[in-house]
Amino acid sequence: MVAGAALGRRILAANRPRNASGEMTRRPTLLFPHGRRSDLPEEDASRVTYTVTLIPGDGIGPEIADASVTVLEATGLDFDWQRVEAGESQIARHGTPLPDEVLDSIRATRVALKGPITTPIGEGFRSVNVTLRQALDLYANLRPARSMKGVETRYDDVDLVIVRENTEDLYAGIEHRVGRDAAESIKIITRAASERICRFAFEYALTNGRRKVTAVHKANIMKLSDGLFLESCRTIAAQYEGRIEFEDRIVDNMCMQLVQKPALYDVLVLPNLYGDIVSDLAAGLVGGLGVAPGANIGDEAAVFEPVHGSAPKYAGQDVANPTALILSGALMLRHLGETSAAVRVENAVREVIAEGRTVPRDLGGSAGTKAFAAAVADRVAAVASSTPR
Ligand code: NAD
Repeated sequence: MVAGAALGRRILAANRPRNASGEMTRRPTLLFPHGRRSDLPEEDASRVTYTVTLIPGDGIGPEIADASVTVLEATGLDFDWQRVEAGESQIARHGTPLPDEVLDSIRATRVALKGPITTPIGEGFRSVNVTLRQALDLYANLRPARSMKGVETRYDDVDLVIVRENTEDLYAGIEHRVGRDAAESIKIITRAASERICRFAFEYALTNGRRKVTAVHKANIMKLSDGLFLESCRTIAAQYEGRIEFEDRIVDNMCMQLVQKPALYDVLVLPNLYGDIVSDLAAGLVGGLGVAPGANIGDEAAVFEPVHGSAPKYAGQDVANPTALILSGALMLRHLGETSAAVRVENAVREVIAEGRTVPRDLGGSAGTKAFAAAVADRVAAVASSTPR
């Protein structure tokens, strides 16, 4: 096994792009909120190898990770996958589900594609997912939810982007028992984190041609904590006045509105817990967890992962839908500045599902994980080979 720091140095070196003669050029700069490979001359673009940490995870994770790698490689881009293991399987070997080399690898590559990891309920180790987000300060959780032709749902015009604060709120994990029969969890909301996530939402809206940001809260009841979140959002919104619309909604009303009139909404910004719940609601509006991608973005690193969990009952059976992780991979391509490759991947997924011949089981078809990935990869490669790079 390679020691953490040594592994980090090795990956850091590997992640430096090389020019045609094999000389290292500068490392890609990841920009906020979607990075552009702005420090490379255009003619070098086709020669970059992206070094990406790959965490297959638990349950269906390894299968959907293989499927996603197949599709991403079909774009013709070069990837050097640094495969590291985290999750339940690592406890026996390392005594922890999150061995040091996982964090070391992401700190070095700055980009990870991650499958789901099991978290025991009510006992056992702390969520690896939450630990990763906090350790790397991945403060923005981006979860787009967009209707897809061929996926039967109540609405066909949903196009929402959920921006969830990822580092505080009830997820700070500060809990204690009060005697034998009571327990307290502490909800932390700070101005700094609230302004930071709200700014991210507005910058995302500007960069991606969106029209409106809606802040979601329960400030009528939690006047101090959610009140501070709302006040922070209003402060930031004022800086974007005239460019991006702003409004706010109480979270319970927001849920009803999303179920009744989702097309009225665009980008939503929420504290951690409401963001988690509302993003599952949004996923349900567009076909369920199998199609819901996500990204955890910080200033120094980004981890791309599906909204769904490890679905242990489907593990190892070639029945899981890899769409959510494949689309998370497309978000990763956008983050790396590979927008046209990202669009090819997104279109290929949508076209294969819309055609209806090779559709995963959770969407009403009978295709296995591998067959679906192969169909999407073939479509991506067909477009890639006809598109000059
Ligand atoms: P889950 O997302 O694993 O499953 C919920 C339902 O959706 C199940 O019926 C499942 O079979 C189905 N499903 C989910 N993904 C699917 C896919 N790709 N294809 C087809 N069907 C799919 O949620 P859960 O059962 O609440 O959680 C299982 C484990 O995953 C728990 O340990 C939980 O803590 C963990 N989890 C991890 C993450 C993460 O790693 N980011 C996120 C959520 C849950």
